[in-house]
Amino acid sequence: MRLLLVEDDAPLRERLRSGLRQAGFAVDVAADGFEAESCGVAEPYDAVVLDLGLPGKSGLEVLRGWRAEGNQVPVLVLTARDTWSERVDGLKAGADDYLGKPFHLEELVARLNALLRRSHPEAEASLAGQGLRLDEDRQVAVRADGQVVPLTGTEFRLLRYLMHHPGRVLSKSRLSEHVYELDEDRDSNVIEVYVNRLRQKLGKDLIRTRRGQGYVFGERD
Ligand code: CA
Repeated sequence: MRLLLVEDDAPLRERLRSGLRQAGFAVDVAADGFEAESCGVAEPYDAVVLDLGLPGKSGLEVLRGWRAEGNQVPVLVLTARDTWSERVDGLKAGADDYLGKPFHLEELVARLNALLRRSHPEAEASLAGQGLRLDEDRQVAVRADGQVVPLTGTEFRLLRYLMHHPGRVLSKSRLSEHVYELDEDRDSNVIEVYVNRLRQKLGKDLIRTRRGQGYVFGERD
């Protein structure tokens, strides 16, 4: 899963970026409203963490602009402490959740994970159908008998994206867009290597190849 983190406070932005990466997300950053707006249009994010007080263009304006264009990416807004009116404005503008500053990183991660689950209700069932469970806190897969399957960072991001889109044909380029950050070298052929590693670890029928199209996760159609 790939996030856009919009925050103009540089030390906070770097702290959140590193924490979110550790929590298993690919993270792009934007430091002002204009940058945020164009990133949100150009890149297919799975969720956005949006500070409302931004230079250039406010977070509220950015969010309203995306929604007006039909961009339904899940958005969690960061608001100043004790400003209930900001929270209300954020929700009215189309935010899916909010968090007041200051907050603990653990709460941000938990809220993002919940937000992603809500926007993909089929995800839990898709892994359960394979006799597996994804432990997001430990970034491992767990078999029905309790056996833990360790995953590398890339394997975890790839598996999580696949399980959130069961039964859909996903091209290599789309998968690489959701597993890697903007400035990473995105060779979509590498996706093939990681798909094969997941098959080796979790079973060869977990991810099927659609020749010339991509991959399908989950039950046979
Ligand atoms: Ca700010």
